[in-house]
Amino acid sequence: ATDEETEIIERYVSTADGTEIEVAANVGTLAELDPADEAGADGIGLFRTEFLFLDRESPPNEDEQYDTYVEALSTFPNERVIVRTLDIGGDKPIPYLDTPDEDNPFLGDRGIRRSLGTDADLFETQLRALLRAGTEGNLAVMFPLVSHVEELDAALARVEQVAEELDEDGIEYEMPELGVMIETPGSVFMAESMSERVDFLSIGTNDLTQYVMAVSRENEHVADLHDPLHPPVLRAIRRTVSAGHDGGAWVGMCGEMAGDPDVTELLVGLGLDELSMSAVTIPGVKSRITGVDSEEARELAERALSAETRKEVLKMLE
Ligand code: PEP
Ligand code: MG
Repeated sequence: ATDEETEIIERYVSTADGTEIEVAANVGTLAELDPADEAGADGIGLFRTEFLFLDRESPPNEDEQYDTYVEALSTFPNERVIVRTLDIGGDKPIPYLDTPDEDNPFLGDRGIRRSLGTDADLFETQLRALLRAGTEGNLAVMFPLVSHVEELDAALARVEQVAEELDEDGIEYEMPELGVMIETPGSVFMAESMSERVDFLSIGTNDLTQYVMAVSRENEHVADLHDPLHPPVLRAIRRTVSAGHDGGAWVGMCGEMAGDPDVTELLVGLGLDELSMSAVTIPGVKSRITGVDSEEARELAERALSAETRKEVLKMLE
C-alpha cells in the first residue's frame, strides 16, 4: 500500500466529519523552526529547551533565552508555541550544573523536581524570559515530569511570583497559557485536579510508557515493552483525556506516539485535541486525520480500551 497518499501542508485540518485536530511540531533547536513551518505545523506543541543549556560553560542568561523564545514566536506569529521548561536530570549531565551520578537517573532528580529544588534559580530566570516573551505572540508554557499536585502548585506559585516581580520592576510581560505534561502514573491519577489548575494537559508517551510499564525507554532488550499500545498505557491515555476535559482543559499528546500515522485514528477516537510530533511526520498525520470518521474512531478506541493484550490492539489496527 502506498502511504505517501496526498501529503497535506495546510494548517488546521479536520476529520472527514469536521472535528478539528491541531497538528503541531516538536522542536529541540532553532534550526527546526522553519522546517516545522514548511511542513504545515499548526504551531509548536513541544519546544524542548534543553539545547539552550547544552554544549556551553554556563547557563544562558535571561535576555538570551528571551531572544530564543521570541524567535520561535515570530516563526509562528498566528499559532500557539508551547515551551517546556528545562527538563534535565541525571541521564543528561550538564557540566556546570550539579548533576550527581545516580543509580536510577530516571527515578531521580529530573524535570520539575530540579526546577523546584536544585535549579530554582535557573527556573526563575527561564520563567522571567518566558513571561516577557509572552507579549510577542501566542505563548504557552508547560512543566515536565510532574507526579503530584503539590509540584504543580509550587510551579504555578513560582510563575505568579515572577509575574509580581516583573510588575514591581515595571517590566512588560504577558501571562502565557499554562499546562502540565502527563508522563507519570501519579499525574494520570491526579489529572482531574491538575486540569482544574491549568489550561491544558500534554501527554508525554515516551516517559509515560516507561513509567507505566516499568521499562527503560532506552534498552533494546525490552523494547517490546516500551510500546504505548500496551492496554495499560492506552487506558492511562483515555483516563487523562476524560479527566482533562472534565476539568475544563484541552488535552494534547507530544510523545512519539502522536507522530505515528498508523495510530492517528485511534488517537482521534481517544479524544485528543492536539497531536505534536517531529515535523517530517506532520503531512502524513494530517492526511490521515482528514480521512477519519469520528464515530468510527470512537468505536475503534472503545474496542482498543477493552483489549487485554497488545497483540489484540495490534490486530485491531491492521
Ligand atoms: C515524553 O516523555 O513523551 C516527551 C515528549 O518528553 P521527552 O521525550 O523530551 O522526555
Ligand atoms: Mg518526557
